[in-house]
Amino acid sequence: YVQMYFEPLYQKNERIGTLLVHRDITKEYEVDRMKSEFVSTVSHELRTPLASVLGFTELLLNKELKPERQRKYLTTIHTEAKRLTSLINDFLDLQRMESGRQSYDKKTIEIGSLLEQVISQYPMDPAMHRVVLERAADRSVVIGDKDKLQQVFLNLLSNAVKYSPSGGTVTITYKEEGPDLVIEVKDEGLGIPDDALPQLFNKFYRVDNSDRREIGGTGLGLAIVKEIVQEHSGTISAASVYGKGSVFTVRLPQSDETVPEVGPAVPNE
Ligand code: ADP
Repeated sequence: YVQMYFEPLYQKNERIGTLLVHRDITKEYEVDRMKSEFVSTVSHELRTPLASVLGFTELLLNKELKPERQRKYLTTIHTEAKRLTSLINDFLDLQRMESGRQSYDKKTIEIGSLLEQVISQYPMDPAMHRVVLERAADRSVVIGDKDKLQQVFLNLLSNAVKYSPSGGTVTITYKEEGPDLVIEVKDEGLGIPDDALPQLFNKFYRVDNSDRREIGGTGLGLAIVKEIVQEHSGTISAASVYGKGSVFTVRLPQSDETVPEVGPAVPNE
């Protein structure tokens, strides 16, 4: 995008001509476009759950309903309210991280057990998706904030599942590469078009292809992941074969420290 305008040209207070200025405003235009896209995404994401909360509460208030039906409506209200909360939390988290107001509580962490926890806590339909953890490192110690690193892998795992609508296996691998610990989250889902890859970690960016228009989201998840990984002196990248699957690679510096053992409780005599 080019902006063009004329500017008078003076020399010693005397007008000697006119300058035609060409300015490349592609960047500004893109930022504006992304901002307005965000406003429409967020208003849609806020309105949809709110509309369903309002609709179902009205039904519950105005009608004599059988207990099973009441329960069904209340469950929907609960789910939608949770969705709203997580959207607002993501938004505030990212805001806090970007402004440097987020505090990190860093300790020695065993990534292997952190990944096991993330997988075991993730609600999944085993008839649809399978998650495999491949351990290819003897040790996997890093210095990091446990909750924040859990959020990284939870976001990557939930994307892997969410963008694999016809199921498949999600493979999480961790291995050592020189001084780094490398963690890969690989899926057999929709994949990512080549031209989208460079923008994937920008906040509010969502791939707008027909294969995923129905899948909800705000484009904040990967921006949060990137902020956290960078705060841990790490890097994140994505690769994909469109239509076949994607792999997200997180690289974190390893630590030589040992994780303090939490032994079994010894009964007092
Ligand atoms: P959201 O999922 O809320 O849209 P994210 O920041 O987590 O936001 O992801 C940005 C975009 O990247 C998504 O809209 C999606 O199209 C694409 N994406 C992320 N992870 C995957 C994946 N594992 N497979 C395919 N596409 C993905």
